[in-house]
Amino acid sequence: MKEIRAIRGTQDILPGEVERWQRVEASARDVFARYGFREIRTPIFEDSEVFVKGTGDTTDVVEKEMYRFEDLGGNDITLRPEGTPPVVRAYLQHRLGQGRSIERYFYSGPMFRYERPQKGRYRQFHQIGVEVLGAESPRVDAEVITMAMQWLAELGVSSLALKLNTLGDEETRVAYRAALVAAQAARLDELCSDCRRRHLTNPLRVLDCKKPGCQAVIAAMPMIQDSLTPAASRHFERVRETLLDWNVEAEIDARMVRGLDYYRQTVFEITSSALGAQDSLLGGGRYDGLVERMGGEDVPGVGFASGVERILLAMPDEVAPAVADVFVIAFDERSVDTTHRLVHDLRRAGVRALTHAYGGRSKRAQTKAARRSEASWQLVVGPDEIAADRYTLKHMADGREEVVSGSELPAIAAQLVRVTATS
Ligand code: AMP
Repeated sequence: MKEIRAIRGTQDILPGEVERWQRVEASARDVFARYGFREIRTPIFEDSEVFVKGTGDTTDVVEKEMYRFEDLGGNDITLRPEGTPPVVRAYLQHRLGQGRSIERYFYSGPMFRYERPQKGRYRQFHQIGVEVLGAESPRVDAEVITMAMQWLAELGVSSLALKLNTLGDEETRVAYRAALVAAQAARLDELCSDCRRRHLTNPLRVLDCKKPGCQAVIAAMPMIQDSLTPAASRHFERVRETLLDWNVEAEIDARMVRGLDYYRQTVFEITSSALGAQDSLLGGGRYDGLVERMGGEDVPGVGFASGVERILLAMPDEVAPAVADVFVIAFDERSVDTTHRLVHDLRRAGVRALTHAYGGRSKRAQTKAARRSEASWQLVVGPDEIAADRYTLKHMADGREEVVSGSELPAIAAQLVRVTATS
């Protein structure tokens, strides 16, 4: 039979690796909580409208990357390619912003895009992201950016760089779009076929094209900065000043537009030179107007999404923690029952205890397994120990021993383990 394998672009996260994932998630929870963010969990699939309207039907994501299908009831379903539209959908459905409060959410989970898989780019990948709804202040842009930098720094991600740009407000975009269309129209024959299409549907997206032929044309196109309204300029200035004030270094990248249509005003990206071609760890920006487009009132928003796989690639390697604190070995077949009873008592007392005294495994085989488990403590249970009701807990690193009775064992082991864990 043909070997059954995981689908191209998806990955198993195995024990040993999953601990690093948990660390990234725990750190996000910890850092985001300091900034007042609470978790929100939305379904993994939605009505396709959520993304067609939310992400935008002229984006690459919606045009060619969605896992979109009709379910058995004839519904048009999409596996979420990103987190922001579902959060906005939930915000509207449950009327979360009533009273005009500032809402702060974070989410964590798998996203799906039919992209060409390569290192750092997958078809099922994982994002941790945040959204702030109901605040238009540029300080909130700076707050979200600062939080992202803080989190990645705490995770030990190396060589971080923050890139910042503004796309201006709605008025800016209308003016800039007109300027771009005129400039592109003059050199249409030099653009690739994708860009010629984008020129008609979404001329701003041409700026995102990586093809060398298009790059030359793009370099000569007008800059959004020349179309900024005074209000949009002021907003961006405030974001920059606030970041400066908080000692967060940012590099202005005047050509950065980001792939999603809903961005207005501030956009940003955090990269790490520890990564290869796919060096973007996290991206985000302000999306004033999105809530309204999805059927709500005019509620401003700002957020970011990070790619967990890429953060892990840029994080230092760590030794996976031991799977047990105490490993209990049965000396012979007669000692197996007591061995399992002691293991059971240890677990009930909160100690991570493990044994391999199954199916007649020899003491030697069990000792090997104990070494592999890297448990800090070992306990050998034999007829002599059982008869005397005296058991020796041996610390594997320094050889120190603690002799205890069967009834003392759980409490003493629990205490020793706590001390070992904190020392
Ligand atoms: P986006 O939602 O496109 O703004 O992307 C935000 C972040 O998600 C990026 O900076 C990446 O870290 C991550 N990301 C996006 N697409 C993928 C993918 N196909 N595979 C892995 N990570 C991705």
